[in-house]
Amino acid sequence: MTANPTPQPFSARDYDFQTYGPCRNYIGGEFVDATSGETVAVENPRHGKPMGSVAMSGAADVDRAVAAATAAYPGWKATPLKERVQVLYRMKQLMEANLDELTWLLSHENGKTHPESVGEVLKAIECLEMGCSLPNMVGGPQLDVSRGINCSVTYEPLGVCAGVVPFNFPTMVPMWMLPQVLVAGNTFVLKPSEQVPYGSMRLAMLFAEAGLPPGVLNIVNGAKPAVEALVEHPGIRALGFVGSTRVAKIVYAHGSAAGKRVLGLGGAKNHLLVAPDADLELTASTLLASYTACAGQRCMAASVMLAVGDVQHIIDALVEKSKAMTLGKDMGSIINGPSVERITRYVDQAEKLGAKVLVDGRGAKVEGSDGHWFGPTLLDNVTPDMPAGCEEIFGPVLSIIRCKTLDEAIAIENASGYGNAAAIFTTNGGVARYCSERFEAGMCGVNIGVPVPREPFAFGGWNDSKFGHGDITGMDGFRFWTRPRKLTSRWEISSDATWMS
Ligand code: NAD
Repeated sequence: MTANPTPQPFSARDYDFQTYGPCRNYIGGEFVDATSGETVAVENPRHGKPMGSVAMSGAADVDRAVAAATAAYPGWKATPLKERVQVLYRMKQLMEANLDELTWLLSHENGKTHPESVGEVLKAIECLEMGCSLPNMVGGPQLDVSRGINCSVTYEPLGVCAGVVPFNFPTMVPMWMLPQVLVAGNTFVLKPSEQVPYGSMRLAMLFAEAGLPPGVLNIVNGAKPAVEALVEHPGIRALGFVGSTRVAKIVYAHGSAAGKRVLGLGGAKNHLLVAPDADLELTASTLLASYTACAGQRCMAASVMLAVGDVQHIIDALVEKSKAMTLGKDMGSIINGPSVERITRYVDQAEKLGAKVLVDGRGAKVEGSDGHWFGPTLLDNVTPDMPAGCEEIFGPVLSIIRCKTLDEAIAIENASGYGNAAAIFTTNGGVARYCSERFEAGMCGVNIGVPVPREPFAFGGWNDSKFGHGDITGMDGFRFWTRPRKLTSRWEISSDATWMS
């Protein structure tokens, strides 16, 4: 296995199709092929054709990455916190300086509109900023607990840790983990989504430029076999996973059984409850943005509108706004062909079961493009037991469920197995409080369509949207990637001062 040249930056600055070099593994500071030599194509979903290729790794590659991370660990752990965090400060400057490249690369591999890509990278930078402030926040308490006896706590790294991330936020989701992981003094093996591996590759290159020593951050590309090897590897102490509920459950169960600390974030079915007194313009435009941004491929996207009482005027406005959207400009593409087929099946099935298709995105195309498209879709008269009413569709489809009362709407939200996000749209403070106290969701909003907590508030859902304890970002993230050492010291050397004196 030989080292390859460092990849060139990506040069596209518009949506025109452009190829990129192979995405290799990044181990010990070098770009290397998978042991098997196997690769698969990386598709540009807006154009529907391969823009490059990615290495497909197995257990031997994971072994190699863990060995590099293990070798780098003592040096990184011994580097003072103040110096570790300087890498993050430099990384922030580098991400800002390379914003155009990072955002256009993101649009090419993921299919987001460019403004959406800018939003994602800026949010990733906000996560870095949170990491930069950690040294000011993580000093553990110490106390003289009795005469001459002092107790203190320090938060120490775990060792080699790993992260597995999904396709829908190629730059931001790795940054949910890396700042806390690195500031804490751990070394890391990242497994990006094989559908969008380039964002992580460029992050690793920028981290190297920012002064991160070789081996502290390693990337193993691939799919299920690479993840299984990470889950089983005895050299990995903790694993963060973000993806579908089906895989999150497996990774959580197997990783925990293998003795690892695991936090697995899964899928979602988010309910937005609209009360009759909701502000018309704010509600219609916020619901539109929530269900169509990133073509609905967000774990925080609106999926169900719980329409309480007479909110027909809001639905009418939403229909009008949805029809006015220009595919390819206001909304990006779907990640791949099978996803378009899955979304289409949900809409076909809902229609057969009696739902009314108010806005129909099936078969939508962008002229001159062979990409994967699906237009904004509004389904009315959906019932909670229809698959479109209770399963994750992961596309730009909003299912409207009509409800007579707030309590009926809350009961529908509560019955969902998921628990990522829920929001209430109202101008009445009492209604807002009544609903937000009763939602079965980890991230709730009042007049907010995508209630992602801003840093330093941590990100994480409940129920089938998250497996494991705590949240993935903020201080919870720091706690997850560290272990507390409690120290009890005697500073009065006399025989009559005891541990309890
Ligand atoms: P996915 O579960 O298919 O893939 C996630 C990761 O797991 C990828 O790196 C993939 O290579 C790997 N993987 C896929 N199948 C696997 C298997 N059988 N065994 C082991 N590893 C496997 O998810 P996706 O399609 O990339 O992303 C979309 C999903 O992620 C949606 O369900 C979305 O709601 C969820 N998501 C959740 C959050 C959150 O914070 N809760 C954030 C983003 C995305």
